[in-house]
Amino acid sequence: MSHTARQLKKAARIILVGAPGVGKGTQSERLLARFPQLASISSGDLLRENVRRRTQLGVQAEAAMQSGNLVPDSMILGLISSELTSKGWLKPSSSNSSAPNSSTASTSSSQSAASFPQISPTASFILDGFPRTATQATSLDALVPVNFVVQLVTPPSVILARIASRWVHEPSGRVYNTDFHAPKVPGKDDITGEPLTQREDDSIDTWKQRLRKFEETSRALLEHYERRGCLWRVEGKSSDEITPPAVRRI
Ligand code: AMP
Repeated sequence: MSHTARQLKKAARIILVGAPGVGKGTQSERLLARFPQLASISSGDLLRENVRRRTQLGVQAEAAMQSGNLVPDSMILGLISSELTSKGWLKPSSSNSSAPNSSTASTSSSQSAASFPQISPTASFILDGFPRTATQATSLDALVPVNFVVQLVTPPSVILARIASRWVHEPSGRVYNTDFHAPKVPGKDDITGEPLTQREDDSIDTWKQRLRKFEETSRALLEHYERRGCLWRVEGKSSDEITPPAVRRI
């Protein structure tokens, strides 16, 4: 795939929505390579960083993260807005310090500019992993006028087949896939020759459960952005099929 750098047509606040295993990380990397003005903010990375540094927030979030549940909305929203602020993209409003009223998030940018924190007009970024629910999306509306929501769709059967053929060298984290990145010797790590294993959390039942949960929680999120007219659906069986139409949207 060519990575010719391109200019954004306008400031882009992008959200990628897709089931686990669909390749959101890959698409994010490709968009960052294609559009040098973009940066990426990953809610999962921010949380993991807090857990690693043993911050108060990290300690509070850890249990939910380990059990595969979502952390509370207020926690994640605070984390994202302070990250946007520390990057200089979100300026605290001087005229009104009250918290944005998430239940009446405005679609009019002039109205929100008067009373809410203001986003820098040139700030362009991908939010990775946030928002995950319609409630989070409503809260985000009050802070950031998201203008590209790309729904990445790969049939669940294709995702499950990909997971079933994934093998890991646990000590190094090297990942293989017997369909398109097979180890030189079946079942052995290329570098050390040590045995490869399949992760317990890669079991098909666990993945079916994750995909079901995603279907449930993403429905209202997608409807939210569809109503706002900024949702685009891009379907493909592989990341290479998905990238070109996704890039064209932005
Ligand atoms: P991820 O790396 O995006 O899969 O996130 C890892 C974990 O962080 C998730 O399983 C959740 O526990 C938590 N997390 C990440 N993003 C969010 C979010 N937007 N809302 C709630 N919890 C989140």
